[in-house]
Amino acid sequence: MNNGSQARLRFNPLLSPQRSVTPMIPTETLDPTAEGLARAAALLRQGALVAFPTETVYGLGGDARDDLAVARIFEAKGRPRFNPLIVHVPDLEAARRYAVVDARAESVAAAFWPGPLTLVLPLRADSGLSALVTADLDSVAIRVPAHPVAQALLRAFGGPLAAPSANPSGRVSPTRAAHVLEGLSGRIAAVVDGGSCAVGVESTILGLVDAPSLLRPGGIAVEQLEALLGPLPTGGNAHKPNAPGQLASHYAPAAPVRLNATDWEAHEIRVGFGAGRSDLNLSPAADLVEAAANLFHTLREADAKAGPHGKIAFAPIPETGLGRAINDRLRRAAAPRP
Ligand code: AMP
Ligand code: MG
Repeated sequence: MNNGSQARLRFNPLLSPQRSVTPMIPTETLDPTAEGLARAAALLRQGALVAFPTETVYGLGGDARDDLAVARIFEAKGRPRFNPLIVHVPDLEAARRYAVVDARAESVAAAFWPGPLTLVLPLRADSGLSALVTADLDSVAIRVPAHPVAQALLRAFGGPLAAPSANPSGRVSPTRAAHVLEGLSGRIAAVVDGGSCAVGVESTILGLVDAPSLLRPGGIAVEQLEALLGPLPTGGNAHKPNAPGQLASHYAPAAPVRLNATDWEAHEIRVGFGAGRSDLNLSPAADLVEAAANLFHTLREADAKAGPHGKIAFAPIPETGLGRAINDRLRRAAAPRP
């Protein structure tokens, strides 16, 4: 059995500099008993990842307030982009801590929560959620799952869980613990085995930041939502991706951004990765998980330091593992803007 400090050491990125992928770790299979859930909650508190059943598919859970935990989700799944993740909470009251829930959202929640419906709502300024969870948007996707094991885990953990489907990027969503292990064994701390998922398709995503819109069809039929809200358009802007994961716009720094910088130019804020002179550093130990965890704050901080006439230069980031998602985000920050 592992104790807490061993698990913490195992996940400390600073202890393994220069690596780009988390080393293989033994994945525990936990029963949904009080003891198993307590173990799962303890792992989550250490920033480790635990897959768990929901009524839709198995989710890959990590503490939604912890930048490193959320970075590990992207790493474990091998996601090439930092698309925003759904935050799972036990009830509407918990949702209010992270999102602005108006009367309209409340009536939808009353009708469909707990259940396979995700609501995209305005993010509260004091949410305390990791910027990686929302992809630095000012909205947040929240769901209250109905599955008793998901409910019990959320209550044992006592915080919000970011949880995309527990499969490697591009593979089919898992509906059994065995499927989770096929894809992610050795890459996550544990899976809570709660049997088969009943719904098997992902949650319906309803955008409620402004006019209601359908962002993704899923476990709750569109007709059921339309009975409450009227006809639902589908469509795209920053809060309404045309397809899951495809957000039209992101926070972009005001200052010009130069990538793969190996030298200095005047009036540049230099953002380092690994050793060497820099004004800000994504990860002095050249650890990609740490760099991903720091990415969004660092972009904002560099922009603030650069001021109205300055520029930002990023040191090269390896195009491996999470480096692909980091470079994808940086290329967008550096792209010419209208
Ligand atoms: P999943 O991969 O099942 O966790 O689904 C996540 C999807 O939810 C993303 O790809 C987006 O389409 C949508 N989503 C999550 N958060 C937001 C957000 N803050 N604003 C808009 N869409 C979101
Ligand atoms: Mg998925």
